[in-house]
Amino acid sequence: MASISLQNISKVYPGGAKAVSDINLDIADGEFIVLVGPSGCGKSTLLRMVAGLETISAGSASIGDRKVNNVEPADRDIAMVFQNYALYPHMSVYNNLAYGLKNQKTPRAEIDKRIQAAAKMLEIEQYLERKPRALSGGQRQRVAMGRAIVREPKAFLFDEPLSNLDAKLRVSMRGEIKHLQKRLGTTSLYVTHDQLEAMTLADRLVVLNAGRIEQIGTPLEVYHTP
Ligand code: ADP
Ligand code: ADP
Repeated sequence: MASISLQNISKVYPGGAKAVSDINLDIADGEFIVLVGPSGCGKSTLLRMVAGLETISAGSASIGDRKVNNVEPADRDIAMVFQNYALYPHMSVYNNLAYGLKNQKTPRAEIDKRIQAAAKMLEIEQYLERKPRALSGGQRQRVAMGRAIVREPKAFLFDEPLSNLDAKLRVSMRGEIKHLQKRLGTTSLYVTHDQLEAMTLADRLVVLNAGRIEQIGTPLEVYHTP
């Protein structure tokens, strides 16, 4: 686990306007932060800079004590969960879960231990030998969560992970994500455009507008209209 600290962070895309302007944000160890705001306000860009998937134009990002501006995504000790799951279609669920750990040369017995524990937590034990195409959307999303969990990262980054699911499943998965984060205590940064999701999950909400923080506070503080 670790805190995340963003100091005066900005992003200018080549030939473009500022997507993120001079943002300061300190996320405490174990805190669940949800980023909300209108389409194009910079949520995804901010998340991707923390992940190392976009370069940082100015300012600095730290995970724990470590400045990560020039650290490769794979070496940042974070795990990202995407909207489209990003599972390997030709691999079994087991091998999808094992893939990142095998690359890190984690011993086989340790890989197996972590996979069994995560699969149990997510109730996907009975699907380990299946290919992703033989799973439902909700099961695929659990596998994507499992792949993040087994890495035991310092932080989870979520990019609208539930937006491909139908409304009913979205509600139940929302509860499961909250439950998992409470149980694991892993610092989380979560992007969504769904207000209910934001209110349910967030310790603190960050409202972005045109690349800047417009408001920051607990769900009650942000959504309470006096
Ligand atoms: P959000 O996730 O809140 O919808 P984004 O971070 O995707 O917002 O986008 C913020 C701004 O940056 C938008 O104006 C968008 O058009 C622009 N943008 C996003 N990605 C790129 C890119 N690869 N190249 C140029 N401009 C981009
Ligand atoms: P593929 O999809 O490439 O055929 P498999 O799922 O059959 O891969 O498994 C490949 C490797 O992963 C094997 O070495 C096997 O030992 C290990 N493995 C797969 N499923 C499990 C499991 N449920 N428990 C322990 N090891 C597993």
